[in-house]
Amino acid sequence: MQVSKELLQKYAELIVRTGANVQPGQVVSLAVSVEQHDFAALVIEACYRAGAKKVNVDWTFDVQSKLNFLYAEEETLAAVLPWEEAKMKQMTEELPCRIYIASDDPDAMDGVDPQKLSAVMQSRSRVMKPYRNAIDGKHQWVIAAYPSVKWAKKCFPALSDEEAVARLWDAVLTTVRVSEDNDPVAAWKEHTDFIERKAAWLNAQGFSSLRYYSANGTDFTVELIPGARWEGAGAVNSVNGAFYIPNMPTEEIFTSPLAGKCEGTLVAVKPLSWNSQLIEDFAITFENGRAVSCRAGKGQELLERMIHMDEGAAMLGEVALVPKESPVNQCGFLFYETLFDENACCHCALGMGFKEVLPGGDDLTMEQAQDKGINDSIIHVDFMIGADDLAIDGVRPDGSTAPIFRNGTWA
Ligand code: ZN
Repeated sequence: MQVSKELLQKYAELIVRTGANVQPGQVVSLAVSVEQHDFAALVIEACYRAGAKKVNVDWTFDVQSKLNFLYAEEETLAAVLPWEEAKMKQMTEELPCRIYIASDDPDAMDGVDPQKLSAVMQSRSRVMKPYRNAIDGKHQWVIAAYPSVKWAKKCFPALSDEEAVARLWDAVLTTVRVSEDNDPVAAWKEHTDFIERKAAWLNAQGFSSLRYYSANGTDFTVELIPGARWEGAGAVNSVNGAFYIPNMPTEEIFTSPLAGKCEGTLVAVKPLSWNSQLIEDFAITFENGRAVSCRAGKGQELLERMIHMDEGAAMLGEVALVPKESPVNQCGFLFYETLFDENACCHCALGMGFKEVLPGGDDLTMEQAQDKGINDSIIHVDFMIGADDLAIDGVRPDGSTAPIFRNGTWA
């Protein structure tokens, strides 16, 4: 399949209008690989057609990133330079619309010392995080994907370059609901309405905890934060009220659970790609809300390092519901990209939670959100637990229960 310019234009428009929902007079900050310059041009033009005041582009290049890690010193890479910090500070004032096009080779960092990679990430995140927290909920953003050859070959190693890219395009366009003859804006409206109805039902139930069971060994209970909301599909910029869709595709309804309040074992049903490396056949056991042990058929050491990244890395920041009928799951292969893989089935995330699920959460500092039970960490790593037989019950404060999921889908 050769993707036509018309289809690419349709996709670019969808990302800008429905995803980021660029408003007249807004500054847009676009992050995209140098390899995708032709598609970047379509996105830039779509932004201006939507009325953008100015589009700035941060060109990324994963080959350069790898060379930096191979040749530059850890201290050099870990340092956040004054101009980088100034740029982040300007972002907190300008609150640009941010569009990120994911296309990197999942193996881009192969051969790089994982210890160096996580150390650099750790110290850079420490400096950048306050700025990220400051713009949280106050700007529109979207992540969407563009298949590169290396990414496609990672998913389909047996196919030729051309066939692999065609297969990945096919999957990407299916999951983002773009086809030659459809109206993707209408398709997204129907999809987000469905998700919002389910989220409204969950919010009306007022569950105080969730119980998970599966024959694979998942046996888990997690407490929820009283008053915290289930959210899905869209979000609202609290400054200008613009509705935007942060992830394309998106299938999940999620909330942040009460940090430090869960017990039991979660068994992963799909491999996890973290820092360009795979963790497979794994399970994590929690006691008093913290991951106390884990086992993995592959990548055990990596999983342990992840859990020990900082104080909050051993606690959950997210629980998400995704039915097994998800188009991402139906594609039937691992995308090696969280944007897709986390939308395949039910998952949890270790690390940072979302303060925006709290009433008035956008205006809370991360410390205030933490006091109310939101987890904080420099990591946020989703792992899939949505087995085909997964059952989830909601438990209300009075002890009554209601089925939420049966056999991996809405009950
Ligand atoms: Zn999620």
